[in-house]
Amino acid sequence: MSLKILHNVNVVQEDNSGMSATLWIRDGIIERIESSLSALPEGDYEFMDGQGHLLIPGMIDVHIHGANGFDMMDGSETSIQEVSRACAATGCTSFLVTSVSSTIEALIAMIRSVKRVAGHEAGAKIAGLHLEGPYLNPKRKGMQNERFLRHPDLTEMKEIFDEADGLIKMVTIAPELPGGMELVSFLKERGVIIAVAHSDATYEEAKQAFEAGASHVTHCFNGMRPIHHRDPGLVVAAFEQEHVSLQAIVDGIHLHPAIVRMMHRLKGPDGMVLITDALQAMGLGDGKYMFGGHPVTVSEGVARLEDGTLASSTVTMNEALRLTVETGISLTDAVKMASSSPSRLLGLAAKGKISAGFDADLVLLDEQFQVQWTMIKGSIV
Ligand SMILES: [Zn+2]
Repeated sequence: MSLKILHNVNVVQEDNSGMSATLWIRDGIIERIESSLSALPEGDYEFMDGQGHLLIPGMIDVHIHGANGFDMMDGSETSIQEVSRACAATGCTSFLVTSVSSTIEALIAMIRSVKRVAGHEAGAKIAGLHLEGPYLNPKRKGMQNERFLRHPDLTEMKEIFDEADGLIKMVTIAPELPGGMELVSFLKERGVIIAVAHSDATYEEAKQAFEAGASHVTHCFNGMRPIHHRDPGLVVAAFEQEHVSLQAIVDGIHLHPAIVRMMHRLKGPDGMVLITDALQAMGLGDGKYMFGGHPVTVSEGVARLEDGTLASSTVTMNEALRLTVETGISLTDAVKMASSSPSRLLGLAAKGKISAGFDADLVLLDEQFQVQWTMIKGSIV
């Protein structure tokens, strides 16, 4: 039995924002929240002073590739552990290990190391795998390596699912490719989130995929047919379908602030999630790196391939939260987009909210959104 009393925090949540609160955390679970400190208990407990800082539910990143010089596609357990640590240090408490298009051998090696690390993470918890590719459209490849892009292959997909033992939670596909709709049915049967990106789908093709079970758009607006008033494309199809949620890379580069506000206005905070889509340069800064089999140069925080194509991002979840607020979106909505919306998307019933009975996955932030500490299941990591 362990009890922590976290006093003097400003819980960011719709109903109690701006109020100083005290949390009782027992055995990793939020037991109760009080508006003022009641009588302290008898017996052992740890008393923590939040110094009036902001307390938010642990953020959840459904799209991250690497951090601190480690790329999770290198197949090593160390890389996954280092990303788990880097996530925790930036206020993220759960994440989907995200692949890039590769050979099947490289993907299987990565899946095997994820299986070894899951349950023994050094920091943020692995909530599963997000396969970004390889069944993507070369026409909208972005930084995906064309060498590894291919048409949907259900035999290969079966092999990958067999290897992953239920860890696959999300797959990003281009449904307009030959065999794309069969792939949608295959994934739907397995209950995974079907996301669309690196896709040239027209409005009609995307609508068909969404009606057949696709429900999410990876890095919305990036790596897809843009909106044209006579050719609305998959983005407008996603806006029209109520069950479809959107990922947003809010790093000041991938999306203009007005586009972030438009996504928020059309989908609401429950219909969009903040992601980092970070590569290994996250946490390291400018320099030369490798990503997806390409050399990538990071200059002033912007990652690009040699031809200038944007290649992933270096933003962290706490910076994404700050930049979202800077677009004019309220802090409570921005926190929803970073915590409760991704937890609902992934079906993590005990996460994403500061409420009695929920996991004590908590982040203390100062007014500049700097992480003071991150707590996962009641332990500071
Ligand atoms: Zn990505």
